[in-house]
Amino acid sequence: MRVAKRARKVEGGESCAIPAEKSIVVICFDPGAGQGAVPRALAALGLDSVPDKNSRWFEPGLLTVKLDGAVSQEAQERLAKAPGVRQVAAMPAGHRLVTQPRSREEAAVRLSNGAVIGGGTLAMIAGPCSVESEKQVCEIAAMAKAAGAVALRGGAFKPRTSPYSFGGLGERGLEFLARAREKTGMPFATEALEVSQLDVVARYADMIQIGSRNMSNFPLLFKAGAQAEGKPILLKRGYASTIEEFLDAAEYVLLGRMLAGAERPNLIMCERGIRTFETATRFTLDVAAIPIVHERTHLPVVVDPSHPAGDRRYVAPLARAAVAAGADGLLIEVHTDPDRAWCDGDQSLAPDALGKLMVDLRRLAPFVGAL
Ligand code: PEP
Ligand code: MN
Repeated sequence: MRVAKRARKVEGGESCAIPAEKSIVVICFDPGAGQGAVPRALAALGLDSVPDKNSRWFEPGLLTVKLDGAVSQEAQERLAKAPGVRQVAAMPAGHRLVTQPRSREEAAVRLSNGAVIGGGTLAMIAGPCSVESEKQVCEIAAMAKAAGAVALRGGAFKPRTSPYSFGGLGERGLEFLARAREKTGMPFATEALEVSQLDVVARYADMIQIGSRNMSNFPLLFKAGAQAEGKPILLKRGYASTIEEFLDAAEYVLLGRMLAGAERPNLIMCERGIRTFETATRFTLDVAAIPIVHERTHLPVVVDPSHPAGDRRYVAPLARAAVAAGADGLLIEVHTDPDRAWCDGDQSLAPDALGKLMVDLRRLAPFVGAL
């Protein structure tokens, strides 16, 4: 679905101006920079060494250093020119790449079919909770496209609360998703559960989903950001995580991106409900997260109304609330036969319900474009 919304005002994030009392310097070294590169880089900052507690290696090529005091512009330039140094970022301690000012255009995610997430249009991503067969996913993809979705979703590696529940078809599921893309032209998002799955998922998928249960899997976040193909990442909020923790999780992805020399964040933040004392719904959709994440970062914000609803009757109202609060897109579970779905059928929309929701959203979107 592509519905014109009024352009959102582009605000600055937090200022990255140095001076500061403490700073963080992130140094990305060239692969094969050699042993001497680190002392030379530190010398450029006027340091002989840094205590272990003030430094951290993320990978053999990425060092973060915590410094007392500000980093001068000259020191940054010296460091950037030091042999073996590929990239440098300096920020006052407490500031983050995720809150760095950038234009909404730069932060928007562009998909292979020309769809843009975060570009001032509302993007619908729809599909089954899990891939069950080639026929199932191709039929659902065609139905979602006909309703106006711009991308498909579907799990091939499923995080399940019980070890005895269906865990997804694995790579075969990715093949079926790729087949659905071939038939419909729709790019797809699918989840990688662990670092060892990143390569295979990146090989097939257009967007890599990191699920709610993995929002605090820091090596996965970092590696997903750094993974060679630079595929967009759809990061779901941990259901027991604060918005600040959500932003810190995004920071890991962006650090990984930096190591890979990526120019664009290519990261979508997804609010999907948090656990509260309320039991009438599966989770509580935190609608306030939409404007708050928008205020603190320029990254696109997509909302999944299916998992908080837990029941298909509540999906459309939550979707409308998300759009009214400024969501850049929706991630919705749909199924051609929800009552027979292998996973999350209760919260899956049938084709007619998706069609009706799209009609409502098309009417609503032009009125709520501005934050
Ligand atoms: C999903 O989108 O299929 C999923 C498992 O969602 P979450 O990680 O938000 O529970
Ligand atoms: Mn699901």
